[in-house]
Amino acid sequence: MEVPRDALSQREVLRLQFARGLLLALGQAAEDKGGLKLRVAAKLPIRQGAEANSFGNSYDHDGAGRTLHIRYSRLQGVGDLLVLLCHAVAHIRLGSGFGSNVPSDRRPGFQAEFRRCLKQAG
Ligand SMILES: [Zn+2]
Repeated sequence: MEVPRDALSQREVLRLQFARGLLLALGQAAEDKGGLKLRVAAKLPIRQGAEANSFGNSYDHDGAGRTLHIRYSRLQGVGDLLVLLCHAVAHIRLGSGFGSNVPSDRRPGFQAEFRRCLKQAG
């Protein structure tokens, strides 16, 4: 379900590069240094608990595989991408991936961490 890089338009590749730069700015390690792998997915896997995350339909964080899949349709705007990645990094910082540990945007501390990420990204 992964969208290969050569299937992306030049603009989409640029947005993906922007996304990688943003992850670095948010303090995530580079992919070749063991950091998060950023991939584009045509469709996301259905996971229990995704509905507790307001962006659960936009990205999927596989903590074990250290991979962040972004839904292809979310690659169409830089603003959306920024908010989405800040949201994902806030969850990652708080240590709540999908799966057994259900992320909730209402969890104490989440909104503060999300705002911190947005400030750092700006
Ligand atoms: Zn969320």
